Amino acid sequence: MDNTCRICHHVTAEERYLCDGCEYRACTWLRALPKQAALLEVCLQPTTGPAQRGGSGRAHSPLPLDIRVLDLLGPGHAAHIQDPHGDQTGGIPIVALLAGWSRYLASEIPAVHHDAHGTIRIDRCEDAWPRTGTGIPAWCSWLQAYLPYAVTRPWAEEMYGQLEELLSRIQRVTHTTPRRTARDAPCPGCQAFALVEREDELHISCQVCDVRLTPEQYTEHRDAVMPALARIALLMSAQAAQQTAA
Ligand SMILES: [Zn+2]
Ligand SMILES: [Zn+2]
Repeated sequence: MDNTCRICHHVTAEERYLCDGCEYRACTWLRALPKQAALLEVCLQPTTGPAQRGGSGRAHSPLPLDIRVLDLLGPGHAAHIQDPHGDQTGGIPIVALLAGWSRYLASEIPAVHHDAHGTIRIDRCEDAWPRTGTGIPAWCSWLQAYLPYAVTRPWAEEMYGQLEELLSRIQRVTHTTPRRTARDAPCPGCQAFALVEREDELHISCQVCDVRLTPEQYTEHRDAVMPALARIALLMSAQAAQQTAA
């Protein structure tokens, strides 16, 4: 294993395949999924239309249900975890994908138990059992709890990719995207005013080069450069005012 994140190629701790920034992102997806699923249910039937006067039933045939939502919320089959060509993600419903990864993850975790003679045995877990049931929130919190383990496994990149694809399928229906905020200070790497903060990301990232800062690093950087920049801006506007007056 080299110490490069498989997703964003930033340097990471040696014993993991995803960096802390990408782990954070996957975690925010899992946190957002239950609310996104509730939004999907609202989007299932685009509109029911007004009732017709004098009629006892519908004047029109019912509007079709959004097939994309049915695909996402349906029972479906277990996720195709091993997908070398990356072409199986399309139709996997939310629960099947989450449960599939939870079970795959559980099958790798060593389980310690005592056998009938009191000897300690180390086996593989047989299955994942969320304590709060088998709905979307339960699988999401199960996976969140085991995410720090998942990022140390070689398949972490594939799990990340499938979760990312799932979220974008959902967001295409719900029309929700993570909030982005442009930050005032220039990038310490390329000096462009291109630092952006996204609510689903741990770091504030430059959109021009690959610099990224934690919120604390950004605050420190901003406090160091902004007073000088503000003085320059003040001088320039004073000069412009003089030239206009002359
Ligand atoms: Zn990364
Ligand atoms: Zn930059």
